[in-house]
Amino acid sequence: MAPRGENNIVVVPNMKLEKVFCMKGGNGEGSYANNSQAQARHARSMLHLLKETLDGVQLTSPDVPFTVVDLGCSSGSNTIFTIETIIKHMSKRYEEAGFKPPEFSAFFSDLPSNDFNTLFQLLPPIADPGVSMEEYLAAKGHRSYFAAAVPGSFYKRLFPRRSINLFHSAFSLHWLSQVPDCVVDKQSTAYNEGRVFIQGANEGTASAYKKQFQTDLSGFLRSRAQEMMSGGSMFLVCLGRTSVDPTDQGGAGLLFGTHFQDAWNDLVLEGLITSEKRDNFNIPVYAPSIQDFKEVVEANGSFTINKLEVFKGGSPLVVNQPDDEAEVGRALANSCRTVAGVLVDAHIGEELSKELFLRVERKGTSHAKEVLEQIQFFHIVASLSFA
Ligand code: SAH
Repeated sequence: MAPRGENNIVVVPNMKLEKVFCMKGGNGEGSYANNSQAQARHARSMLHLLKETLDGVQLTSPDVPFTVVDLGCSSGSNTIFTIETIIKHMSKRYEEAGFKPPEFSAFFSDLPSNDFNTLFQLLPPIADPGVSMEEYLAAKGHRSYFAAAVPGSFYKRLFPRRSINLFHSAFSLHWLSQVPDCVVDKQSTAYNEGRVFIQGANEGTASAYKKQFQTDLSGFLRSRAQEMMSGGSMFLVCLGRTSVDPTDQGGAGLLFGTHFQDAWNDLVLEGLITSEKRDNFNIPVYAPSIQDFKEVVEANGSFTINKLEVFKGGSPLVVNQPDDEAEVGRALANSCRTVAGVLVDAHIGEELSKELFLRVERKGTSHAKEVLEQIQFFHIVASLSFA
């Protein structure tokens, strides 16, 4: 059990991040399942890039299963849609090449605290494998693949050597494995005093975040290089930035560096938390530039870069009535809470966390127009193949 600190709040040591971190589970108002339409929209706008990658995957013998993995799958229906798209496209490629499609195996992978149960309940029933492969793949409302969940950090090994044909990962690799220790160390020049994110931070903080991202991505590539079958590919999408300056994190910077930051400052000003308590909280996200990403892939050397570009994603907020300022405020608070709520709860407890997100909502409501116009995400899209 995690140790309890002041006010009986669970203290999350950095190394335990992978044990507690997850998107909000279930299917309530703040859940990822209900707040991931923006990611769904962004993923759909990149489908042609995914399909290009799939066209480059080497077809293997139809007698052995074709294995697909979604890394950082979370718990909504986005991952199911992606896996289905991949399998349909690959089946078509086998058929066009004159082969009977192989059986497909899909692994849904995320950190152990991910709500895999909600995900399993969303999975369509499997078609009866007794029927012919054509009927099997055509069965509407049914699943044409075998599914399993794999808990663990994608910065480490997750699968046996040479067992995977295709890795997919969307909107996950910008999550660092931890906040760099020096960023929360008062004695360090990298101490991120007064801030809860890298946005606008000093040089020391910025280089610590960048180094953490590159160390993490390097661990990711090393692990995948072991697990991938020859001729396989990876399609990776994560938050990215267009600026060379890491302290200008683009849309992520505005999401976590403006109203969210101000809400933390309010808690300090109102005497609800100390300034140290705020400074000890940092969002473990880093939106890399193309260059940051490329350096790591090239240093790793196991993958060929087919494509590496920044792609405009759009707003992360899900809003039906853009003129409704209260709805924009709610969407901003929900967006922050869905992805960072578990970390905030662990740091200041659920009561204060509610207070924090209430303030984010109010600030979002009073700046609705700017929030909608300015918080725009860019993504790094990488298509890599393994020789
Ligand atoms: N791919 C999904 C979900 C993206 S949310 C979609 O497109 O909608 C980001 C996910 O990455 C979360 O579920 C989070 O738990 C997961 N994640 C973050 N760090 C991770 C790590 N080190 N290992 C595995 N999953 C991680």
